[in-house]
Amino acid sequence: MSHDTSSCLFCKIAAGDIPSTKVYEDDEFVAFRDIRPAAETHVLVIPRKHIDTLSNCTEDDSALLGRMLVLVARLADKLGVAYTGGETGFRTVINTGPGGGQEVYHLHAHILAGPRPWQRMG
Ligand code: AMP
Ligand code: ZN
Repeated sequence: MSHDTSSCLFCKIAAGDIPSTKVYEDDEFVAFRDIRPAAETHVLVIPRKHIDTLSNCTEDDSALLGRMLVLVARLADKLGVAYTGGETGFRTVINTGPGGGQEVYHLHAHILAGPRPWQRMG
């Protein structure tokens, strides 16, 4: 598990030092397309602040986590996958630790949507 922000892939993506297909950014968050999409729509939402896992979040991160989840909903809207009735909707996943399948140790929420089957996280 990496705790070193200078070698963190997602810190570098947030800073623009590694290219990504960004779909949104503001002062606090960045959202970009997953490089290995598991579904037709697969976007990752990250805070610019380096937090390695959800397990290491503290009370101080409560507001950030709340804003991140609201942003997920707004982005789902923007991406055209929000729940608007019928068969619509999306999945939000935060993998945490090896047991949760986490590969990149910078907190991120997956937004997944589209026709089944999905390649992973199905
Ligand atoms: P997790 O398993 O929850 O840690 O998810 C990490 C995700 O990051 C995986 O779905 C990867 O496909 C994705 N990923 C890894 N490197 C990049 C990258 N350079 N740009 C975009 N997504 C990436
Ligand atoms: Zn980081």
